Amino acid sequence: MPTDTLIEITYLVATMLFILSLKWLSSPTTARRGVIAGEVGMALAIGGTLLYRGIVDYKLVAIGLVLGCIIGVPLGKVAMTAVPQRTALSHAFGAFCVTLVGTAEYYLGVHGSGIPAFKMSVLCCEVILGGLTVTGSLMAAGKLQEVLPQRPITYKGQNVVNLGLLAVAVGLAVYLVHDPSATHLYPVMVGIALVFGVMLVIPIGGADMPTVISLLNSYAGLSAAAMGFVLNNKLLIIAGALDGSSGLILSVIMSKAMNRSFTNVLFGAFGQVAAAAAGAQEARPVKSASPEEAAGILAAASKVVVVPGYGMAVAQAQHKVRELYDALSKRGVDVRFAIHPVAGRMPGHMNVLLAEADVPYDRLMEMDDINGDFAQTDVSLIIGANDVTNPAAKTDKASPIYGMPVLDVEKSHTVMVIKRSMNPGFAGIDNPLYYMDQTLMLFGDAKAFVSNIVKELSGGHG
Ligand code: NAP
Repeated sequence: MPTDTLIEITYLVATMLFILSLKWLSSPTTARRGVIAGEVGMALAIGGTLLYRGIVDYKLVAIGLVLGCIIGVPLGKVAMTAVPQRTALSHAFGAFCVTLVGTAEYYLGVHGSGIPAFKMSVLCCEVILGGLTVTGSLMAAGKLQEVLPQRPITYKGQNVVNLGLLAVAVGLAVYLVHDPSATHLYPVMVGIALVFGVMLVIPIGGADMPTVISLLNSYAGLSAAAMGFVLNNKLLIIAGALDGSSGLILSVIMSKAMNRSFTNVLFGAFGQVAAAAAGAQEARPVKSASPEEAAGILAAASKVVVVPGYGMAVAQAQHKVRELYDALSKRGVDVRFAIHPVAGRMPGHMNVLLAEADVPYDRLMEMDDINGDFAQTDVSLIIGANDVTNPAAKTDKASPIYGMPVLDVEKSHTVMVIKRSMNPGFAGIDNPLYYMDQTLMLFGDAKAFVSNIVKELSGGHG
């Protein structure tokens, strides 16, 4: 079989695997299959590309692969809680690669046979999107890793400056399409795109980072698709389009989950009021309980809803939570889990952890499906969740999370909250739930506290 045909077939199979991978990733029951399909697809895509006759030096390719593995393997082993920033770093690497390839193509073309207008226009899209994604993703990773301030950095006229920068970059691109030989303008255009990426992310803070990362995912995909046009590579066009559209769809879903519009996420400087709100806080009395008391209340309940959050992930308490589920279910208590779409630090964070601990999928309820049931719930047990249960999101117009849909836990007869202190969650704001009559604070590390409740339940009588 001619090599070209073999490459085409390999690319076709890889494309099919990428599409199936996305389809399977959308349900927890098929997600593992989805990951494997994606991996095999990528291996085929790389294998097919290595067959390409245009490759002049396999030694350089091998060095690149080894370097990529040296960086990629440790990146794949980060803790689950650090996956969002890891994902942002992957986007930065991908976009950096796209920008470099675009730049190489530009200089090869401009010093060679010239660059036709269509190719130059997609090349400009490629490097502008690629450039802004590199720095935007690095900023997002820095904010999530807390090496950069998480609070939004804003100033007057920020949106005008940002949009102005983008307009200049686009203007330069239009000029370069008209006259690709204006080589002095090319680095200016790329430089502006890099600066724009920084400016785009600094005014966005707190709870909007997941949406930003998924949006940057979309930009990285679109720039890769543009690169596919530049290099005339169909697989890149398809994979980039899949990446771009899935990132965009995820951003829309997440914006909806927070009841915000896209423009509001991008230009709203979310989280700005949080510092003032946290500063104004004063000590108010709360009721607390011991593991024995908590176990007694849970054992006497008939309907319990567990609300997991970021603290469960930090404490790695999911296996103990599974033991609690088993102990209560054995006593005939109906236990379900309420999953908020942005609980934890990445979409699907809670689902992944609970699946790891083998909690049955049919016990996990989406927010919209369970919110109506809290009024008939005896106990809501909140484990390391905070913002996603904050009733101020519904009532306090001054709250930075106002409008974000939350779990209606305060409607249940008793609310128990496991956390270590009265410290706020990700949004940096106080939670009025903790001072309500029906609420009991269970102070301690999530894993240790749940473990003590389980001990009480198994030590006690059935
Ligand atoms: P959260 O509001 O950040 O609250 C987590 C709580 O867990 C904290 O109040 C903390 O209180 C407690 N905690 C931490 N370590 C603990 C431990 N070892 N044991 C027990 N408790 C512990 O979390 P959330 O309710 O899950 O809400 C998620 C927030 O993150 C939202 O604001 C969301 O918008 C944002 N976010 C989400 C994503 C996403 O895609 N899911 C991504 C980025 C940001 P103590 O310190 O007192 O223990």
